[in-house]
Amino acid sequence: MTIQPNSIEGRDRAYHLHSYTNAKALERDGALAIERGEGIYVYDASGKRYIEGMAGLWSVAVGFGEQRLVEAARRQLETLPYYHTFSARTHGPAVDLAEKLIRMAPVPMSKAYFTNSGSEANDTAIKMIWYRSNALGKPEKKKIISRIKGYHGVTLASASLTGLPNNHRSFDLPLPGIFHTNCPHFRAFAQEGEDEAAFVARCAADLEALIEREGAETIAAFIGEPVMGAGGVIVPPAGYWQAIQAVLKKHDILLIADEVICGFGRTGEMFGTTTMGLEPDIITVSKQLSSSYQPISALLINDRVYQPIAEESGRIGTFGHGYTGSGHPVAAAVALENLAIIEERNLLGNVQALAPLFQSRFKALESHPLAIEARGIGLIGALELAPREGFATGQLGPKLAAVMQENGLFSRAIGDSLALCPPLIITEQQVGAMFDIFEASLDQFQAQLK
Ligand code: PLP
Repeated sequence: MTIQPNSIEGRDRAYHLHSYTNAKALERDGALAIERGEGIYVYDASGKRYIEGMAGLWSVAVGFGEQRLVEAARRQLETLPYYHTFSARTHGPAVDLAEKLIRMAPVPMSKAYFTNSGSEANDTAIKMIWYRSNALGKPEKKKIISRIKGYHGVTLASASLTGLPNNHRSFDLPLPGIFHTNCPHFRAFAQEGEDEAAFVARCAADLEALIEREGAETIAAFIGEPVMGAGGVIVPPAGYWQAIQAVLKKHDILLIADEVICGFGRTGEMFGTTTMGLEPDIITVSKQLSSSYQPISALLINDRVYQPIAEESGRIGTFGHGYTGSGHPVAAAVALENLAIIEERNLLGNVQALAPLFQSRFKALESHPLAIEARGIGLIGALELAPREGFATGQLGPKLAAVMQENGLFSRAIGDSLALCPPLIITEQQVGAMFDIFEASLDQFQAQLK
């Protein structure tokens, strides 16, 4: 299709550099413009409807076009469209949301701190941890351990935590002092003859070896998503988190649970921390916090983290950190209304009710001749395609995603894995329709490959 210079696609190509996009391919092919959304659906500029099988970017829990969120934003814009939280100022929405999050927290937490994105939340977690180590008179305790295929964002520090090559390549990352340990993907990384228990034991032993090599007194924290999302939807094997946490406890290393995808119901509990039995010192949340109607993220920190930070800020005279948008009243008001909808409509109950169907439809696709593995939990899952002669690793996934898109379903290709993470408001009938498209697209793709 030729792109007219004055069309949205034409002007996009002329003026806009895109995130996570091959700019040269975009110059040739243009972008797909999305115009509006309703429930689990979005519509492109030509009026074509798609099931948003990824809830945008793993985030639009309550679906598109939710008028209660529009109203919450409008009300707040009329009363106080902006105020900050620097220099001991505050406002109702920030206080209400902080209280709500501390009350909801899956483990005892002391304070909430607001940021604007998942990346900023994780970046801030590192700064808080460094500040804390200095406060405790342990200036050498600064290194952070993350995992291969973990995704924690794209700021300098968060991209360093992220364990994916495209976030490091040509950016001169990771920064020094950040280390990546094993990815808990059993099928991909188990060694010959290793069962799940042996694999878990090796993950824990490798972590401990890394800690001992670097010196436990130099390691401040470990960060992990309870269930990995953007690395390919990887649910760790039974006992994994227990084994990892035992090593961290032994060496006095803090745990940061990155709940940016898992938080607010995705895995079948309100937090992935509960699903996976974590005892984090810091939890970072974003995405489903506001259903991404407004950019907002938060850190929940326990007393082990808060008290030394408070002491240090008392000594220095300030906690010298904060964003203009930290605790933005409109974003906070939208987040509060979004959390109210999640609770009032019992969307967690909907996840629990539909997860068996969602996961069994994924599992059924595993026997497709093109597939090698289905993985998932709650309302998040992925199907990995088997390697195929004539195709480099990571080539098949985007091709299948394109067929699915043509057929009216947005999924996300992560290498050769196709992920789905739909809005939490999805119905049983819509789950069925989504997987019918997935299945038909697989067959169609197989026919194309022959
Ligand atoms: N952490 C996790 C687990 C994520 O999935 C993401 C984004 O996908 C981030 C952090 C980064 O969030 P943001 O894109 O808002 O910076």
